[in-house]
Order: sequence, then structure tokens, then C-alpha cells
Amino acid sequence: MKTAVIDGDKIILKEAPALTLNNQKGAIVKVLGCGLCGSDIVKFVHKISLDGTVLGHEIVAQIVEINSETNFKPNDVIVTSHHIPCGECVYCRHGNVSMCKHFKATNIKPGGFSEYVYLSEEHLQNVAHLKPENLTDIEASFYEPLGCIVRAVKRANLLEGDTALVVGLGSIGILTAQCLKAFGINAVGCDLIQERVEFLKSFGIDAVKELPENFEADGIFMTSGADKAIDTALKHVRNGGKILVFSSTPHDETSYPNNEIYYRELTVLGSYSPSPKDLKDSLELLKTKKVKVDNISVEYSLDNIQQAFDDTMANKILKAYIKIGN
Ligand SMILES: [Zn+2]
Ligand SMILES: [Zn+2]
Repeated sequence: MKTAVIDGDKIILKEAPALTLNNQKGAIVKVLGCGLCGSDIVKFVHKISLDGTVLGHEIVAQIVEINSETNFKPNDVIVTSHHIPCGECVYCRHGNVSMCKHFKATNIKPGGFSEYVYLSEEHLQNVAHLKPENLTDIEASFYEPLGCIVRAVKRANLLEGDTALVVGLGSIGILTAQCLKAFGINAVGCDLIQERVEFLKSFGIDAVKELPENFEADGIFMTSGADKAIDTALKHVRNGGKILVFSSTPHDETSYPNNEIYYRELTVLGSYSPSPKDLKDSLELLKTKKVKVDNISVEYSLDNIQQAFDDTMANKILKAYIKIGN
């Protein structure tokens, strides 16, 4: 089977042995497509993942072989995420599932940018769902990324009717603003790129290039970790408000000033990866079209995956979807 692997500064195609269950529990699925996540780009650019790694985790796939206690059967088209929390450790009990050791250790194999993938029984039981019929494959591929956003919105724990500012309107920002709205929060987006401002407005959500001096939000969602974005957050968060950090920074010298947090009683909190419940909620938001994702991704073939990485890194597109099987 064909896979796409990291090879130095490139993503190359590599033939890998075919997968079979061999009496194991779980399923072999044919990957129909896989979204290219910002975290894939970070792992590739900053060489966090080794050569030979198959990136990709936002898959839509069809079951070809299965040995499972679940109700899934061959030919079912499903969405799944890659990590599963144990539910019992100190992190899980405190709601920080993405810090759970089991969560970090579990994954789909070899990775989403592959013609076929092995899913464990745990995946099938906890994080896999049938693809809703009213969603296209591309739309359904937002199941996992939107799950991350659902988690961020829940973690901020804002009140209905609050105002939230979304800093940075890439694909995550566009989804975050819509998700906030679905939770009854007034979302406003800002981005330096006018095109992105207009794009969010097309979803009926306020967006601006430059915020009015006196604009204040109860919560700020940081989809950018740039210094300028942090300045914007500190300037526009109200006293006692929350800053939700939801992106990595290109360099790690940035910091939140101690005194602003202290004297202004600010809460700064991070949010990383979703729980099975967040994912379920995500699928519901997609299915009910409370979050619309139909015009966000640009489709590439697996053969053309390097182009998808290049275009994403060059900010030419909001998000790439790699179409793999059919
Ligand atoms: Zn992702
Ligand atoms: Zn755990």
C-alpha cells in the first residue's frame, strides 16, 4: 500500500506492506481522505517527528476487515480520531485527557496519509462513529479538529451571551468562531488578512482587521501564538477575563506578563486535544450544520501531498484535505 512519509525536508511516497488483522481485534480501514492538521505541519517543519513517520490523523475511512465487539461492519464509512484516554489517571480525572499516558501512546497505524490504516478495538469502541449521511467526506474530516475546538470552548467556560474574540482566522479560527456561536457566545474574529475577515463574515459572524480601541471581550481564543496576537489579547481581554491559548508559537520566548495576570485577575489556560465526549459533540455540530465546513478545505491527491504541505505553509489555502481512496 502507498503511504506518505517524512523524508528530511520533504514528504515522499513510500510503498509499505499490506495490513491484515491476523486474528487481532480491531479493523483495517481504507482511508478515503485525511485532513492536513496544523500539528502535522509543526511536526514536519520543526522535525519533531522522525523520518519515515506517516503523519495525518483526521481520517474518513471505510472498513474493509473487522474483528470487533462493536456494531461496525465491513463497508461502513466512519470517522475516528487517533488517541484514547484511559479515563482513570490523575490527568483524566481532572479533565486533562490529552496529558494521559495512554492517550499519548495510542494512535492509528501507520498514520492517516496512507491507503490503509489499522484501528484498534479501543478506537472502534471510544472514538469511531459512522459518518453521518448528510456530510461529504471532506466535511466529515473536520470531526477531530472540531473536537479540539469544542474542548477549547468548553474549557473557557464562558457564560451564554458573553463576548469572545477569536485572534487569527485560519481554518481553526473560522471553526472556533462558529463553535462559540453554537454555544450561545457572541463571537468576533480578527485577522490581519482582509480576505479571512470577509470569509468569517460570510458565516454571519462579525470580523474585523483592526479592533476598536475600547473593544473588550470576556474570553480571547488564540489561534495564533505570534507576539502580536498576545499583545492583542492582553489589550482586549476585560479585567477578570480569560485567554485561551490554542496554538503553538514559532519561538518560545514569549510570555504573559506576571503583573497583568495578577492585578487584572486574568485566567490564561491552554487546550490541546479532545476527549471522546468532545468528539461526539463535534460530530453533532457538523451533522446539524451548526458549524459549516463546506468551503474551507482544498482537495489534493496523495501523489500531490507535498503541494498540500507547501500551500498550507505558504498560507495560500486555509486547509488541505488529502483524498486517498474512493
Ligand atoms: Zn488535527
Ligand atoms: Zn488517563
